[in-house]
Amino acid sequence: MVQWHKDIAQLTIPTPFAVGDVHVYVIRDEKITLVDTGAKTKEGWKTLKEQLTAIGLSVGDIEQIVLTHHHPDHAGLIDSFPQAEILGAKEGERFLLRDEGFMKEHDAFYTSFFRQMGLPDAFFVLIEKMKEPLQILGNRGLDLKLDHQQKIPGASDWRVINTPGHAQGHISLFRSKDGCMIGGDMLLEKVSSNPLIEPPFNRGGERPIPQLQYNQSLKRLLDLPISLLLPGHGGVIEQPHPLIHHRLKKQHERALHVKHLLAQKESTAFDICVRLFPQVYRKQLGLTLSETMAQLDYLLSIGEIECADQAGDAFIYKALANEKELEYEQGFNR
Ligand SMILES: [Zn+2]
Repeated sequence: MVQWHKDIAQLTIPTPFAVGDVHVYVIRDEKITLVDTGAKTKEGWKTLKEQLTAIGLSVGDIEQIVLTHHHPDHAGLIDSFPQAEILGAKEGERFLLRDEGFMKEHDAFYTSFFRQMGLPDAFFVLIEKMKEPLQILGNRGLDLKLDHQQKIPGASDWRVINTPGHAQGHISLFRSKDGCMIGGDMLLEKVSSNPLIEPPFNRGGERPIPQLQYNQSLKRLLDLPISLLLPGHGGVIEQPHPLIHHRLKKQHERALHVKHLLAQKESTAFDICVRLFPQVYRKQLGLTLSETMAQLDYLLSIGEIECADQAGDAFIYKALANEKELEYEQGFNR
């Protein structure tokens, strides 16, 4: 169904993922611009075409597509608009192109990362499983790589705000004249965004720390006068600043819970994952491992835990006996 938010059309497309439907947006500016596309399924494509028709457009009318990030529910259908230029952040393009070099790098990165996390051998099939959603992701490069604060050519009321964390190349679009933001998966009404672990953008570089990037991105949004946030999933968010504070505070509390588990027993990341998600870790291994690593990375950054042993294959984490645990407000300013 099409919903209008001011002059922006919100189209809602089904996806085969647990997250449910995805919203994509049509902006009519100097160019007719589609923000995200939906997933590459029969159902997704049919629904997208129908909803374009409902607002008086055909597939051929779309002149450019801006991607908030490269995930298959957002960038699945880019191949279906051969006439349109594709705009997005440079960090996501490797997933769109999926050349042999990158796929090798992808596998090597997760192999060594999962060893550090202490994942038992039996679970390494996850690396192959993680690639399955890529089958319904579009497969073409970017025509234009967008930078932070850049005005979007063809939609020049809108500016790019880099918001990495959920994906390395995640961007949001902001229109300062009325405070509208198209936020992709940066901030969702009902659920917290998962800071997913990706291979470093620079081959062989340091692993990105997505939870810290994500918190910085949330703080970046707090500096903008956003009146209406149009998300990739779920309800629109009016005046999102209180929700942002809530998300930051909840994450801090989740992290302290992980610290308490470590205070009972030094552990690998995988052990913590099993204790945090005893029911779902097998089914949702990728997501629960990223969520666990996110809390460990955060606790390391605020000095509440240490990585006690990096000598073996798997890293062992240990709680530090601080006199007083850091309060959320103190952690916030780090
Ligand atoms: Zn996503």
